[in-house]
Amino acid sequence: MSRAAVLKNPSPPDPACEPQAPREIFAFAGQTRLDREQMLAAPLHWPRPSKLEDELALPGGKVGEAIASLGIKTVGDLLEHLPRDSREARTIAMLRIGEQATVAVAVVSITARAVRRRGMRPLVEATVRDHSGSMRATFFNQPWLVGRYPPGTRLLLHGKADQGGRFSVSHHAIAAEIDGAPEAVAHYSATEGVTSTQILTLVHGVREALCDVCELLPAGLRVAQRLPDRASALAALHFPRDNDDTRAGRERLAFEELLLSQLAFLRRRARHQARSGALTLAQAPSRSARWLSEELPFELTDDQRTAIAAIDTDISQPRSMQRLLMGEVGSGKTVVALYAMLRAVENGHQAALMAPTETLAEQHFATLQKLITGEPIATALLTGSTPVRRRRDILAKLHSGELQLVVGTHALIEPTVEFRSLALAVVDEQHRFGVRQRAALDDKGSPWGEGESGDRRRRSPHILHMTATPIPRTLALASYGDLDVSTLCELPTGRQPIETCIVSSAEERKKAYAQLREQLSQGRQAYVVCPLIEQAAGQPPGDDPGELRAASAEFKRLAEGELEGYELVLLHGQMPLRERQQAMAQFAQGDAHVLVSTTVIEVGIDVANATVMLVESAERFGISQLHQLRGRIGRGEHASVCMLMGSSESGRLGALKRYSDGFRLAEIDLKLRKEGDLSGTRQSGVGQFKVACLPDDEDLLERARAQAQQIMAADETLSDPEHTLLGELLQERFGEFTLEPIPA
Ligand code: ADP
Ligand code: MG
Repeated sequence: MSRAAVLKNPSPPDPACEPQAPREIFAFAGQTRLDREQMLAAPLHWPRPSKLEDELALPGGKVGEAIASLGIKTVGDLLEHLPRDSREARTIAMLRIGEQATVAVAVVSITARAVRRRGMRPLVEATVRDHSGSMRATFFNQPWLVGRYPPGTRLLLHGKADQGGRFSVSHHAIAAEIDGAPEAVAHYSATEGVTSTQILTLVHGVREALCDVCELLPAGLRVAQRLPDRASALAALHFPRDNDDTRAGRERLAFEELLLSQLAFLRRRARHQARSGALTLAQAPSRSARWLSEELPFELTDDQRTAIAAIDTDISQPRSMQRLLMGEVGSGKTVVALYAMLRAVENGHQAALMAPTETLAEQHFATLQKLITGEPIATALLTGSTPVRRRRDILAKLHSGELQLVVGTHALIEPTVEFRSLALAVVDEQHRFGVRQRAALDDKGSPWGEGESGDRRRRSPHILHMTATPIPRTLALASYGDLDVSTLCELPTGRQPIETCIVSSAEERKKAYAQLREQLSQGRQAYVVCPLIEQAAGQPPGDDPGELRAASAEFKRLAEGELEGYELVLLHGQMPLRERQQAMAQFAQGDAHVLVSTTVIEVGIDVANATVMLVESAERFGISQLHQLRGRIGRGEHASVCMLMGSSESGRLGALKRYSDGFRLAEIDLKLRKEGDLSGTRQSGVGQFKVACLPDDEDLLERARAQAQQIMAADETLSDPEHTLLGELLQERFGEFTLEPIPA
């Protein structure tokens, strides 16, 4: 049926009816009766999505190349290449002299005029008008425009109005069907070789193809969410008429994008749970309860209790826990993790804790031994530096089940590592591990029904992911949509507030060292942190000796200069394990006053007597990293001070000076990154969407989340006809595993 004509009051089929008796057919939503001719002439259209795959006729030369370099090859690609924003379009009457502006006009007359100066091409002059008036527009150097823009052509002109009512055109495009005067014109990010207006010209050229755009969203959903259809949304962005239109269009596309990512998360979670069950850890707490009440030297915070209760519920289910435990450094995550591990052990199984660096794994191992004071639990540390013989012994004992707890690095997920019955794994600083590494961990679970030959399916261990980078809920949802989240907000009591100051001049630096020495002379300890480009976890040392020397050089410099007479130790990731352990032990025992290090101390080190932190080139670090570093001090009874070397103008350093709350800082970080350096985008999760913009689209995200949950509850496989398009696109865009949680 055509769009233009519908049946109104269709009479029930009456066999007695004369075959030629015409049924009454009216124009859509109207009273006009349509006759046969009118109906035949009604525009008839079926979308043909395949047409979107037609290759785009690109202009030759630089422009064509530039468009191709944007990845635009087909008509569909071009329609999906969305404008960055829109520029206000002016009417001719509104133009002000000297101002850049875009106008939508019709050509009244057009001529080429010779220019007197030699070597210049003829000037093209056109009289153009809109509803508000007319003016003369001048095009330089393009005599062929006389043929291309005959009178009557509708044009978008971008340029500048100058004295004498002339408009010098810098960019121009044919505006296919502009009705009336648009308030705005789409503005595309210009790339080298192609301007926004040139892209706009191309888009105008494929405008017809909008009819071939498919609707992905079920009609019911669209109505419920009050979203325009896909084609209209694209049209509203490319050919804006007013702001409301554009906003609605953008919202529609952003919603779709967020919905897809939420569906991908939920589907991944559902698939994971369908594929692999987990061991139920449902026995009443015994050792774990004793540990909490008798061995642990402090009371749990309320947040810790809540997290523990959630974990208890999770692990008593036959499907694997996928929980993210967020909490700043020092918020007491390790205690929660240890509890979960003890639960696995008292149920007769094994547990593992995996950390991204050896230093961290060593720290955890030490903490674990310190905190478990009752009857011993067989525990081992397994890292890349574990000597071969020791390693062989550990592997044998993990296989036999003799070892109950193991702490380690990536070494834990190597194929040679086999557990007898791994029920629970903790992944610290989880964002440093990739999806494949986490999948490898899943694979360490115990096989289904022991002894069943041929069945290679395994139960997944329950997984507790941990991150010391607290992120706002919006971002957590956008980045970790398939995980349940527990948050430790309140810090264990006894924390001292940390004063943070920015040190930006030589004068201030002098004072900073004086303050540092003052603290040392009172028996306190200090950290000096130097920047080092972080190597990817598990990678061999990078080839950046210059940077590394910075830490070692600073160590020497201070030892002979400002901190002469004090005991200094050096710590960085490229030192042999033995030396590193020695350095840390020396500092922890109070045998060294100052620890000069790279960011390896970011997590894990816990020295209550350390009250000063001095960070060199602080602007080289991100807000959350600095916040984590700062978390190394303020852990004891004494007041602490953090000195950031850098510009007092820096927004990031300023935020750190002002706020101590990690969640607050995370939000600021998000805002600053959105506005400023996009290099941090991947890290913050902001850049993962094309249209949606977080945190601004928080509301939309919540709606998309709820909608995705509803869809999954009704049709988990997305096989209902109304969901098939969504399912296909999801598969195409995310596959099964490609949706990596974005590092926090
Ligand atoms: P995180 O892993 O989150 O950085 P930790 O678990 O290492 O934090 O805890 C930091 C320090 O606080 C440790 O020394 C730990 O023993 C201590 N701690 C943890 N929970 C509490 C608590 N409820 N009360 C007092 N101290 C605590
Ligand atoms: Mg920790």
